[in-house]
Amino acid sequence: MDLPSAPFAIRARLLTPLAAGGTLHEPDGLVIVDAVGKLVFAGRAGERPVEASTAVDLRPWVVMPGMVDLHCHLPQVPNVGLGFALDLLTWLERITFPTERSWSDPAIAERLAPPIFESFAAVGTTTVLAHGVVYAAAMDAAYRAAEAHGIRAILGKVMMDRGTYDDEILPATILDRSIRESADLIERWHGADAGRLGYAVTPRFALTCSAEMLRESADLARSTDSWWQSHVSEDPNEIAEVARQFPDARDYVDVYDRAGGLGARTVLAHAIHLSERELGRLVESGTHVAHCPASNLFIGAGIMPFARYRAAGLSLGLGSDVSGGPDASIFSVMRVGAYAHMARRSLVGIEGDVLDSLSWLRAGTLDGARALGLGDVIGSLEAGKEADLIAVDPAFAAALPGAPSDDDPADLMGRLIFRAHPDMVRAAWVRGRRLDGPGRR
Ligand SMILES: [Zn+2]
Repeated sequence: MDLPSAPFAIRARLLTPLAAGGTLHEPDGLVIVDAVGKLVFAGRAGERPVEASTAVDLRPWVVMPGMVDLHCHLPQVPNVGLGFALDLLTWLERITFPTERSWSDPAIAERLAPPIFESFAAVGTTTVLAHGVVYAAAMDAAYRAAEAHGIRAILGKVMMDRGTYDDEILPATILDRSIRESADLIERWHGADAGRLGYAVTPRFALTCSAEMLRESADLARSTDSWWQSHVSEDPNEIAEVARQFPDARDYVDVYDRAGGLGARTVLAHAIHLSERELGRLVESGTHVAHCPASNLFIGAGIMPFARYRAAGLSLGLGSDVSGGPDASIFSVMRVGAYAHMARRSLVGIEGDVLDSLSWLRAGTLDGARALGLGDVIGSLEAGKEADLIAVDPAFAAALPGAPSDDDPADLMGRLIFRAHPDMVRAAWVRGRRLDGPGRR
């Protein structure tokens, strides 16, 4: 099918969360995107009969907002599915660090970054917040690839001044060099293409960073108005080691709090085993958490009390954490998350509301956008927002001919989550521009 880039009008079944709450479902819907890639209209086709009559008709495909992946690792994408049942530290040493070290050759990043961004778009992800590698030249290559591809990308050079896999530079120079290279990347890429590209200062996690590096990285993020991302409270052994290495800190969250790392521009991945104090402090400081249930089960790190955190008011979005998670698809993350929370409910008891399928859609789109401070820009199909959207063919998730239909929006979303198919996303757009990746097969 010949799918357009902006400006265009598309007629399709629409499904989107709404900023004011609730969900819009239009069996015969229309989206109109203007020349600069903004949504002019998203609603019932009958309200705009003139545009509807000439629109590209994608029915019975479903048009919905693009997925927001709040936590992933670019260089690890080729490793998806590898390393099941290794513990975290073994997995890092055996699979992850050698892969990241290979990006010391910028030609590797040059070759791999374009298909990596295409693979995110192929599963419906239009925004990624991603960790990169410790090598600045490779990060430039990754940014160039994102710039050319069209995906919305917030990336960061990984910072590690303890236990680094980059053994070619003198340990004593790592901190200064890492801060300087991050600052240079911010200068070149933060806010590029009118804000489509952004920078996240990226200390990997407490065990690979000195207190000084954490502090300086947080200062850099604040002074440049960039994001700050890291990992927190993933694995019980890791938490014990953090307590040993940061004896002055009250707990894991306090390590980042003391560094000045908490706040509205911060996204921390995992946060599985928080104490009440830590949870309260994240909520109070407006810090966001990337919930990565597929990774958490793949690595065996634990099951986050998602319902309890939500009830406490924590800002949560979804992350694939590839390749800690084995699948870049946020639809798959929703499925594993839903199973994980049902499992937790049956083991631990009721901790809050059960999330229905439409709540998972919201978590993977608008909640993620809000966690990035982009809730007014993307995350739902509403007039005035930028046109980051995907088209999904629900036939890939359908049941047998003659089976009950999925006319109900919760049933439709249920099938897209629980019967997600790797090829069901047929097209993706950012600001109305078609992305390479979907519909290849
Ligand atoms: Zn991660």
